[in-house]
Amino acid sequence: KMNGASDEEPTKVLKSDGQEMGGAWPGQAFSLQVKKVLFHEKSKYQDVLVFESTTYGNVLVLDGIVQATERDEFSYQEMLAHLPMFAHPDPKRVLIIGGGDGGILREVLKHESVEKVTMCEIDEMVIDVAKKFLPGMSCGFSHPKLDLFCGDGFEFLKNHKNEFDVIITDSSDPVGPAESLFGQSYYELLRDALKEDGILSSQGESVWLHLPLIAHLVAFNRKIFPAVTYAQSIVSTYPSGSMGYLICAKNANRDVTTPARTLTAEQIKALNLRFYNSEVHKAAFVLPQFVKNALE
Ligand code: SAM
Repeated sequence: KMNGASDEEPTKVLKSDGQEMGGAWPGQAFSLQVKKVLFHEKSKYQDVLVFESTTYGNVLVLDGIVQATERDEFSYQEMLAHLPMFAHPDPKRVLIIGGGDGGILREVLKHESVEKVTMCEIDEMVIDVAKKFLPGMSCGFSHPKLDLFCGDGFEFLKNHKNEFDVIITDSSDPVGPAESLFGQSYYELLRDALKEDGILSSQGESVWLHLPLIAHLVAFNRKIFPAVTYAQSIVSTYPSGSMGYLICAKNANRDVTTPARTLTAEQIKALNLRFYNSEVHKAAFVLPQFVKNALE
């Protein structure tokens, strides 16, 4: 995750023993013990590392920042995908921007209403390493409903208007290739690419580390969307252990904090959901007072 609204370039150090250290989160660090480095190369866009950890399974690291571990990825993937998907009564066309590990795709494909999933990931190397080292996440890449594009999500959106029921931005942090995915003009493109009843969700960083950035995102989105909300879940290996989700709806009457479709215990089991359920959906939008104050 990134260093909030600061203009300073973070100085990240990824030591060969796998420690994520440095200026991205001044004064704190998170570390996982490395059993074996499985892949480490520089792509055209970023430093790509996969290692086997001793306690969290295989771990994907981009530019020195942990993106997903096999052990706790389901919290992030299920919440980022299912909050907008279950808030929508009948999502048929879905766009994923980023998401190269495949976890969001896996979750979106659980919805039977989905006719087509379009995905635009900038870095083919991330998809390739996910297929090889993260099979539990990348299982959807051969699905017939998938249309996969390799390119910049910002540029991709310019050619798509009024097309999608749900758009999910599963981006890395706003340092490096994902920088363009955090500005007002990106969200204006998202609005235009959504259908009239469309809903978006975006990776929303952590309230403990990035509150000014989150407040900024919420403030400019209130000028673009009639409904702007923020939800959270716990993800053990993200710095500070919390992750946020920005959820916006184009239709003022759509209450995204309440699922439009609720799930029975049987359905939860059949869909292999490990974090998301209909109660968690509603609870995720209940924010602590310091966050409410910042987002007012
Ligand atoms: N959720 C993870 C996190 O925040 O730690 C991030 C998951 S990772 C799959 C994010 C993906 O976004 C990466 O594969 C990266 O290559 C991709 N990405 C970054 N900038 C992008 C852009 N401008 N357009 C499309 N994909 C982008």
